[in-house]
Amino acid sequence: MANWTRRDWLASVSAAAALRPFAARGEDEAPNQGLRIGTFRTDVTPPLGHALCGGWIPAAGVIDDPLEAIGLVILGAGQPIVLCAVDWTGLLNGAQSAWQRGLAEAVGTDPSRVAVHCVHQHNAPFACLDSQAIIERTTELPPMLDLAFFEAAVSATARVASEAVRTARPLTHIASGQAPVDRVAGNRRMLGADGRVKSMRGSASKDPEHHAAPEGLIDPFLKTVAFYSGEERIAACHYYACHPMSYYGDGRVSADFCGLARRQRQTEDPGCTHLYFNGCGGNIGAGKYNDGSHAMRPILTSRIHDALVASEAALRPEPLDSVGWTTADVRLPPDPKWDAAALAAQIADPARSAVDRYRPAYTLAYLNRFAADVPITLSALHVNSLSLLHLPAECFAEYQLRAQSASPGRFVACAAYGDGGPWYIPTRAAFPQGGYEVSVSWCGPEVDDALWTGMARLLAEAPRLPGA
Ligand SMILES: [Zn+2]
Repeated sequence: MANWTRRDWLASVSAAAALRPFAARGEDEAPNQGLRIGTFRTDVTPPLGHALCGGWIPAAGVIDDPLEAIGLVILGAGQPIVLCAVDWTGLLNGAQSAWQRGLAEAVGTDPSRVAVHCVHQHNAPFACLDSQAIIERTTELPPMLDLAFFEAAVSATARVASEAVRTARPLTHIASGQAPVDRVAGNRRMLGADGRVKSMRGSASKDPEHHAAPEGLIDPFLKTVAFYSGEERIAACHYYACHPMSYYGDGRVSADFCGLARRQRQTEDPGCTHLYFNGCGGNIGAGKYNDGSHAMRPILTSRIHDALVASEAALRPEPLDSVGWTTADVRLPPDPKWDAAALAAQIADPARSAVDRYRPAYTLAYLNRFAADVPITLSALHVNSLSLLHLPAECFAEYQLRAQSASPGRFVACAAYGDGGPWYIPTRAAFPQGGYEVSVSWCGPEVDDALWTGMARLLAEAPRLPGA
């Protein structure tokens, strides 16, 4: 362990004994039975022929490398807490709650204490039980999601999560680090002189103008939060905001460059479980630096891998002082431009392409969910002066930058791509600029206040720092 001596560790053990789990709003103070941590992983690769990215691109024809669900469970700070990252495109509405429920039952906790996030690769399953039900009920189209595969993936992950409880180790220390990522991310929304989006720079581009234009607004840092049992690093959670695709749309299932970099770290460091969370990367992609050629995937992989190593080099474990979990329910209003009856007619219309019937099913599923008043639950894990925020869908990068600047003195890492129900979550300022994300977001400009109010509440409930 870099820069962390046995003497440091022994000196810190007594401090760790004074750990105080803090009680979140409405939650009983937990008896201190000693914190423990367990980790789990399982394969969630779809079968050949499975729809990828919700049927918008060719189905799975080849498995280039496996997709995984990787997680950790923390015990002893009230009811168990679960963090899990899945190599899928998205988990929307009922599919998100099915994962939360499955893992919650497996470890004996409440689903609101389970954060499940997608890495958002596109040659991967995009799971929405509600839109699949709409498609099944009203069309002859092949499924966007194989329900038997979906249930098997949830059950397999639940099984390894319950095993992680059984084999959990004492959790004594935490550390954070960060490092800039070199030549990966760029803002996708290139603005013209009139302040409107003039060009969309996606995950890959051969347009010299896309390569020449500046990166624009991004969060350049990859962040790491690591959990220790004494001197041993048990888990490292990595956070970086960028669409994770080098190329896709060719039926070749892959964890792609972010997942491959994580896997390389895992091979080099087998004793520690490495989790990779995509941050608020809704408007961020690799198209400035990536021409989409096969040769670029290993190059982007090594750039992320270098940042993982550099971020870990900054880790300085400190004894745990406080651990807490807070939640905030938010209601993210759909844009009134979406009309349920019109969407239903599009879905039922056999003259439209399959893609143009699948997509309105996702929109309609979210409209139905909002009408049924099923909120989205944001959550945060606060440990010492660190806050890990768990956010929905495809948030714009501005949200995580805002969370960081609103919390001076705290280390704030954001995992987005939780509940994908509302899909893109632009900022209020982005709507008048137009552009792709705004045009296909189910939400309107009010989403900004609604989401930020919830995020600010999570941050406000973090334990006060000494002297703050
Ligand atoms: Zn996306």
